[in-house]
Amino acid sequence: MNKFPTIGILGGGQLAQMLALDGYPLGFRFVFFDPTADACAGLVGELMVADYDNEIALEEFANKCDFITYDFENVPVDAAKFVAKRSDVFPHPNVLKIAQDRLNEKVLFREQLKLPVGDFFTVDSYSELVFAAKSCEKNGFLKTRRMGYDGKGQHRITENTDLKSLWDKLEGGSFILEKAVDFKREVSVILARNIQGEISCYELCENKHKEGILTTTLVPAVESKNSLMAFDYAKKIANALNYVGVLTVEMFETDDGLLINEMAPRVHNSGHWSIEGAVTSQFENHLRAGIGLPLGSTDMSKGFSAMINWIGEIPVVSLTTKEKDVYWHIYGKQNRPGRKVGHSTVVADNAQDLHSKVVHLAQLLGAKK
Ligand code: AMP
Repeated sequence: MNKFPTIGILGGGQLAQMLALDGYPLGFRFVFFDPTADACAGLVGELMVADYDNEIALEEFANKCDFITYDFENVPVDAAKFVAKRSDVFPHPNVLKIAQDRLNEKVLFREQLKLPVGDFFTVDSYSELVFAAKSCEKNGFLKTRRMGYDGKGQHRITENTDLKSLWDKLEGGSFILEKAVDFKREVSVILARNIQGEISCYELCENKHKEGILTTTLVPAVESKNSLMAFDYAKKIANALNYVGVLTVEMFETDDGLLINEMAPRVHNSGHWSIEGAVTSQFENHLRAGIGLPLGSTDMSKGFSAMINWIGEIPVVSLTTKEKDVYWHIYGKQNRPGRKVGHSTVVADNAQDLHSKVVHLAQLLGAKK
């Protein structure tokens, strides 16, 4: 490399912010592109504020960048393709196209790659909803095919759901109805794949969600008979897509094995622990992969990590305490119910120590002994 590369990020949320914070020590420069003026990545670097269909602004952005990547998978594909004509974009915009539509994703997993997914039905009309709900024994999740994240665009379907009034409320659209999976736990594989096709996987992550939003991640997940398979599935997806960057694959683990839920073509919330808990963070490895550097080690730097999301607001103690092995990340976003505004990572040498530190943190936050 004959100069320090400038990396552009489409989307200026906390993932863009953390990519930059881990890229600056390597000498990289960053420019963010986001339609909102208070996008939190703007706190740590140059933010261009414009709509994704503003080609003049996109052109100006692309001209500043040696490489471009994304902060979230719902960046319009046309914008990604437009800048890809002027700069190196990773992962390829075609991957966005798949990841933006739950149906495309399931077709890739099940039909093309023969990987296991839960039962699902496409729903484009009320009669299809009635049929799908019956086929799922009225126990499922109706999800918008596009633009859903953090549980948004999802509706729980149960015996008590009034399908007619739900459909009227939705006012049409394209959905899939997934049968509810009776899982033992949720896990994610986070891997980095570089231009040469080398892959490094982080330890398996075990994730807990509440109302569709990730609340905690524990790493490494307790090993099970399916753990190795989880890595195989994720690598198969990455290789099939000729993927470049960090890829996350979320799975349900059931008594009968793994079912793939979805993929994220980007750094992921369940990998935030890697900033302090791994030799190389997911953010650094995403950048390394994209600009053609060798991947950094994905080994744990301490034996165990826990990541706790702060949703809606940041606890007051974040600024009044400084505990060993507890790291606070406050994104600088306005508080709002259901919004991810920060996270904490706790690291420890062993599982028992991790548990004590998390309990201690909970007590600082006001939990009773
Ligand atoms: P998603 O946006 O698809 O990742 O869904 C968010 C969360 O909702 C998941 O992590 C699960 O906790 C829950 N969920 C989604 N789909 C299903 C399903 N088919 N069966 C059981 N739980 C689900």
